[in-house]
Amino acid sequence: MDRKQKISAHFTLGELIRSATADRKGIDNLPPAEIIPKLKRLCEEVLEPIRSHYDIPFRPNSGYRSPGLNSEIGGSANSQHCLGEAVDIELHGVSNFELAQWVEQNLAYDQLILECYRQDEPTSGWVHISLKENSQANRKVALTYSKRKFLSGLVA
Ligand SMILES: [Zn+2]
Repeated sequence: MDRKQKISAHFTLGELIRSATADRKGIDNLPPAEIIPKLKRLCEEVLEPIRSHYDIPFRPNSGYRSPGLNSEIGGSANSQHCLGEAVDIELHGVSNFELAQWVEQNLAYDQLILECYRQDEPTSGWVHISLKENSQANRKVALTYSKRKFLSGLVA
């Protein structure tokens, strides 16, 4: 598996599977082959439109997580990151609330979560976006996760 392999115009496989925690703990974070088309789909339908709208280069904070990595970082047991269906992103200099709103209004998604955002610090937190393989299965649910609670919708 070649981490440098481009899976869309601006993103490599390595950028969708990289994890400092996995490196540090010696966890194999390589995805099974059937996950790769899903990561490619996330790139083409979520990351590339964001890249082109904002014209800001970025690397996802987190994409695919192997089960071992997911439990190491305390991720939810049914995390869509483990299915290759979710990415966490933030863009340099862009408010995560604004980014989440743009995604809500412009992209197809399954779950969109504005995570750990604080109004007094616009670049705080990150945006979690998931996409189902079958677009008809997308639930189109937007949530805010703040102070260990989920709120409905995007809340600043
Ligand atoms: Zn996430």
